[in-house]
Order: sequence, then structure tokens, then C-alpha cells
Amino acid sequence: MRFKKFTSVAAAFLLAGAAHAQLTETEQRIVAAVKQRTPAALELLEKSVRINSGTLNPEGVRAVGDIFRAELDALGFKTRWIDMPPAMKRAGHLVATQEGGQGKRLLLLGHLDTVFEKGSSVPLWERQGERVRGQGVNDMKGGDVIMIEALRALRTVGALDQARLEIMFTGDEERSGQPLEIARADMVAMGKRADYALSFEGSNKHAGVDTASIARRSSGGWVLNVKGKPAHSMGVFSERSRYGAIYETARILNAFREQVIEPSLTFNPGLVFGGTDISYAEDKATASAFGKSNVIARDAQVLGDLRYLSPEQGERARQKMQAIVSAGNLPGTSATISFSENYPPMPPTEAGGKLVELYSKASQDAGLGRIDILDPSLRGAGDVQFVAPYTVGIDGLGAQGRGAHTDDEDLEIASIERGAVRAALLIYRLTRSPVN
Ligand SMILES: [Zn+2]
Repeated sequence: MRFKKFTSVAAAFLLAGAAHAQLTETEQRIVAAVKQRTPAALELLEKSVRINSGTLNPEGVRAVGDIFRAELDALGFKTRWIDMPPAMKRAGHLVATQEGGQGKRLLLLGHLDTVFEKGSSVPLWERQGERVRGQGVNDMKGGDVIMIEALRALRTVGALDQARLEIMFTGDEERSGQPLEIARADMVAMGKRADYALSFEGSNKHAGVDTASIARRSSGGWVLNVKGKPAHSMGVFSERSRYGAIYETARILNAFREQVIEPSLTFNPGLVFGGTDISYAEDKATASAFGKSNVIARDAQVLGDLRYLSPEQGERARQKMQAIVSAGNLPGTSATISFSENYPPMPPTEAGGKLVELYSKASQDAGLGRIDILDPSLRGAGDVQFVAPYTVGIDGLGAQGRGAHTDDEDLEIASIERGAVRAALLIYRLTRSPVN
């Protein structure tokens, strides 16, 4: 009888412990605190998503910042708003800090803006069963909420009090203000102080396994300007009138596609316009063109991007593109191209790989499966790249969804809780142990 009782008690203990066999008692309380907030976390997300915060809508970006700032204030962080010079036409950034005395110093990154500008036809918030479609639900207000809920759970169980944390939500991640030396000065300073940077951009699934990023490609831009001779279209191709700006633009773009493509490198012409008179309004990302089908185009312009994994690859691509633009112009045309680099490349490092191992371990210990490293060609650029030269960073700790930046951007609601559990455990372990 006694023996029997003992086995049933042991079995019950094993069963109860099975789900969190690898979590300490405090860590189990952290997980419980995250789960307790699951419905409220979705409400917080909805509140922030129902405000349009396109990068070029500073009032909206600040309003979303106010919502998150109130949460961080309530959690005991010291918060402040960093304004950008008015000429930059950007909202600025939200910063929160805690000067504890223990463990690794962490920098946590989020952003308040989305690619959906005011007047976008995409609904702000549209619940679809276990998913939500809307502006910035996974890029990246879902990730912002995951970060805040992870911090809240840690605070709730008293596990945050000694942590050394700096938190930054930028207001211009999707279209950084210029010059970058000003737009990212505060972030770079924080990156220099931090032992680790954790960025909460959307988390991708690859081959059925959740992933995080330790490398991200640079994101830069190029502007192609092409000139031709305006004349009546009946003379096009002739000795006298020649080809015009639009045929030359087509030649150049096609040559880029035929001659410059290589692995991990992409370049995309996102906007092409040409005609007799053209102009471009940077603040509205809108081009206008006047022209007639019976007039040979005088001007054409193309705005494109360029993404690469190493500085050498970027240099190689720029040289090839430059050569195509300056040589072999169609008769009667000329062209120039200029390049800019928005995000420096973040090549993979061993230390980054180790950090993903810790993240993966935390996830597995909580029964949420392993985390793999994502192929950098499968994601765009992000803020973590600005601090990558100074600290060990990973990205992709955010929410899961489909179609970021498109009309169909959506979010798997359950990924909020999953992400917050993983992030809370990782932050807890990093701010406690001298892990290297
Ligand atoms: Zn983003």
C-alpha cells in the first residue's frame, strides 16, 4: 500500500513537471505570468495597431509611442522621447532604461512605424479567427507587444529588479530619417554599451521550424537618371531623333538583371517614371510624369534598392551597375546612377550563433521547440544592423505572420504568447548569468 502510494505521488510529480522539466521554479512563474496576460496582450496590440503610424505620419508614430511609453512607465522604467530635427520629418524615438547592477547589459529593439501610410487601403485591424490582418500587426507591433509582455512577466515575479536594460523603439525603421548619423546616433551609443542586442522583428518559420537571425543583408538604394532628346515619336530610332530616355532605361534595367545577379544579392527597381517632365515628392513617395505617346521621352528615373551580405559583395554589385550605366548607352541618351547605404550589412558571427543556441534552449525548456538560424537571404534589413558592429545581436524574436509590407500582412495570434515566453526566459537567463 505504501509503495503504491509512493509511485502515484511520484507519477503525479513527474507529470506535473514534464511540461517544464527544465525550468526553475522562478522560470515557471515567469511563464505563468506571461500566459495570464494573453488576452490583455492582444488588447494592447489592437490598441497600438488601430492607430495609423506610417513612417511619414509623425503624429501617429508618436501616439503609438505614447501607448508603449505608458506601459513601460507602469513597469518602472525611466522613459524619454528623443526628437529628431524638424528638417528630417520623422517622429523621433522612444527610449526606456533601467540601471540595475547584475548580469549582461541588454539592448532591446522595436519600432513604432509601419510601411502603411495614411490613406492606405489596408484595414487597420481585421480579426480573422485565430489570426489578425492589419497594418503592422507582425512588422512589428506584434513584436513590440511581445517585448513589453516579456518585461511585464519578469517584473511581476520580481525577476527584473537588478537587470541592466536599455530599450529603444525607433519611429523611422521602415524609412530611416536622413542623415543616418543623426537618426541612429542614440542607438549606436546604446549598442556600444550593450553586451547583447535583441531585436523583436517578425519571427520566420522555415521548413516548419521557428527561426532567428544572426545575419542580415545591407539595405541600400540607388537612383538612376536617364536623359534623351525630346522629339516627335515618328522619328524614334532615326539618326535625328534617336531612342529617348525610356528605351535607355529599359536597356539598363535588363542588363542589371542579366549581368549583376549572384547568390545573396538582390536589387529591385521599385518605382520607374519617365516622360517629357518628371518630378518626385520624397515625403509622399510619389512620382508624377507628364508626357504623350507621340513624344520621345526626355527624362526617366528609377528608384531601386540593393541588398548584400558583405561590404565586398556590395562594392562588386555597385561597380557592375555603374559600368552598365556609363557604357553602351543607346544613341542620343545618357545616364547616371547614384548609390546610398541605409543599413550596413550584418555578417554572421560565432557569438551570434551561440546567442541563438541560448534562445533555442530557452524555447525548448519551455516546451516550445527548437529555434534554427535563418538564411539571411530570406529576410530584409533592420535596425539591429546599426549596432551589429559593436555588440552581439539577434533578430526575429517577434511575432509570426505572413505578408509583411503587403496588403495581406497578418499575424498568428498565438505567436504573441509563444514569443513572450521565449523572450522572457532568454532575458531572465542573460541578465542573471555571466554567459558568454
Ligand atoms: Zn520591421
